Amino acid sequence: MSQWPEYAEKYLMNTVKRLPLTIVRGEGMRVWDDAGREYLDFVGGWAVNSLGHCHPAVVEALREQGRLLIQASNQFYTIPQLQLAELLVQVSCLDKVFFCNSGAEAGEGAVKLARRYGKLHLNGAYEVITTTNSFHGRTLAMVAASGQKKFQEPYTPLPAGFINVEYDSIEAIKKATSPSVCAVMLEPIQGEGGVNIPSDSYFREVRAWCSEKGLLLILDEVQTGIGRTGTLFGYEQYGVEPDIMTLAKGLGSGVPIGAIMAKNRAAVFSPGEHGSTFGGNPLACAVAYAVVKFALENNLAANARRIGDHFMRGLTGLKQKFPLIREVRGRGLLIAVEFKKESASEVVLKCLENGLLVNQVKPNAIRFVPPLIVSEGDVDQALDVLGKVMAQVS
Ligand SMILES: *Cc1c(COP(=O)(O)O)cnc(C)c1O
Repeated sequence: MSQWPEYAEKYLMNTVKRLPLTIVRGEGMRVWDDAGREYLDFVGGWAVNSLGHCHPAVVEALREQGRLLIQASNQFYTIPQLQLAELLVQVSCLDKVFFCNSGAEAGEGAVKLARRYGKLHLNGAYEVITTTNSFHGRTLAMVAASGQKKFQEPYTPLPAGFINVEYDSIEAIKKATSPSVCAVMLEPIQGEGGVNIPSDSYFREVRAWCSEKGLLLILDEVQTGIGRTGTLFGYEQYGVEPDIMTLAKGLGSGVPIGAIMAKNRAAVFSPGEHGSTFGGNPLACAVAYAVVKFALENNLAANARRIGDHFMRGLTGLKQKFPLIREVRGRGLLIAVEFKKESASEVVLKCLENGLLVNQVKPNAIRFVPPLIVSEGDVDQALDVLGKVMAQVS
């Protein structure tokens, strides 16, 4: 091990348990540590590096825009922001965009937009129904939105206005609906909560209920958006359209950017009601534009579906061989393996020792969110390592 973990101990706030690995370089599906050792990356910067590491399209956009204009503020028009907005509107069911810098910030803005809508059109309704085990980010309001006690308890009292109900239960949403509710906010698939996939009818029923009651449906596509689950956006797989959608993670393939998108009728902000200093800056927008263009032109969503299916078949084979595996679940390249015991940290460490990076999503589950450019050969290499590790751990 290098000296860097000591630096972390000495200089960084202690918010996360890091693995004993210092990454200095990345290219495509692979990263290298400070001793020059190579790793196959199935973490992808936490579902962020959609085009892999240092993709030429990303590097080129950074270089070109970096020479031209990096930041100008939203007091002026800047072209990359407008081009990215047009592209996102063209490829989605939404009409308007607001750019910010992260997933949590997009969620905050989406809730502000829903509250604004509530004041204008729903007699001041302001509460937002969200689900247990959801994850919407780490700001105070998004911690209140995320129905997970471990994120909430250290920070009480939390901002009011969120009702956490069971996921995949239309009855729970109906029961929580009252005249003070303005919106329902859901992930198409719960990502950080353990890759939880709802039943087929859930989103159709939620959509119908929101339409009947006049509530806004906010979909948090921060993790599922930009091809991750096998379609460009997760909502496409359920045959529903949100009124508001948030994006971040994969949108910039590593450059920080978030977005709130809305249907015209829900895009009710007026000047001065919301804003951001860095949001929509030319650098991040130029990169995101290159990322979305590349994803569309190379149909990375279809690649996510095809390679994801191949990966799921291989993992299901491992499940038949190793009884320690309770379940394999996923869509596209958002996949989890759940164990019968709390073996996740041991599996993650052993994978690391064998040159494969994977993510622990729960004490008893690991998650795979590799770049969308991943190939069948990369998956086979990962399956080899996983087979070896499972044999050791079982
Ligand atoms: C990661 C994530 C967020 C938070 O994004 P940050 O960029 O870390 O603020 C919000 N929602 C979902 C669904 C996420 O997966």
